[in-house]
Amino acid sequence: MAEKTLGIVIPVHNEQEMLPRLTERLISLRAALPQLVEVIFVDDGSKDTSFAQLRKVVETQPGWRLLSFSRNFGQQAAMLAGIQQSTTDAVVIMDADLQDPPEVIPEMVALWQQGWEVVYGVRRSRDGENWLKKLTAKLFYRLLARMSDIEIPVDAGDFRLMDRKVVSVLCQLGEQRAYLRGLSAWAGFRQTGLEFDRAPRAEGATNYNLSRMIGLSIDALVGFSSAPLRFVTRLGIFTVIVSSLYCVVVLILWLAGINVPGWTSMMLVILFLGSVQLISLGVIGEYVATLLVEAKGRPRFVIAYDSARVDPAK
Ligand code: UDP
Ligand code: MG
Repeated sequence: MAEKTLGIVIPVHNEQEMLPRLTERLISLRAALPQLVEVIFVDDGSKDTSFAQLRKVVETQPGWRLLSFSRNFGQQAAMLAGIQQSTTDAVVIMDADLQDPPEVIPEMVALWQQGWEVVYGVRRSRDGENWLKKLTAKLFYRLLARMSDIEIPVDAGDFRLMDRKVVSVLCQLGEQRAYLRGLSAWAGFRQTGLEFDRAPRAEGATNYNLSRMIGLSIDALVGFSSAPLRFVTRLGIFTVIVSSLYCVVVLILWLAGINVPGWTSMMLVILFLGSVQLISLGVIGEYVATLLVEAKGRPRFVIAYDSARVDPAK
């Protein structure tokens, strides 16, 4: 039987400083790993020289391919586009900034050859990231694991190897707000974690500010849990109980002829109920918004350039 083949998918957004180093590491990885026959870069609407650099690089390396989006569609869309185009028996998803060290890939391949169909990287340590990111990431992974209806491994990012069986399942899903780590867990099959130390970003800056991180977290929660909706219901029940008790107090005071001026308590009640209502509306709104996005069924991304489809005569 011919040896099974491996491909790597790399989402790229404004990574011009990283690309020379990334290319170098990938070339030495290919020398060490004969199964590696395909590398797909997905340029997610970069505004720097990433696209121009990658276009030159893929011309010189056999089996390397470049897709480019018509604008920035986000990392999740870029990863999805890459795995949809991949042709190998297994696919590794890796960040362009070398925070996911390529040297871990041979270990992933070894586990795959032992029969594991998903090998996800688990971050043992995260060097070079500030305490806020570490803390929020830690809390978020645990919150999601508690709330989600399926088992999503904690501290595992997108860096993972997936067998063709799993990749085909993911490619069939039409979800707009895909959260790939969750979906790959959802797909099932034999899954195992592999611990690694997350390297600091060598060059450039992170593409994720607080607001994008919150956005991704909301997509993950809405996609994999109805717990926030149940929480709203419980919040409602709680306020009904507290308000009923308070009504009794108010009635007794009225019967006793005590008419308190009551501005403070009135303000507290209005503020409390107002906040509860706004939070509840917001939570429901997130689910409705997701429903709307899914109902519209627009494509997840638009591919403007594909190095495999360019007329060689040009
Ligand atoms: N990325 C992307 N589109 C985006 C944002 C990020 O393709 O809109 C890519 C980015 O180039 C990198 C990976 O996704 O390869 C992870 O991004 P980043 O390193 O900025 O995230 P962090 O590691 O800080 O969470
Ligand atoms: Mg990074």
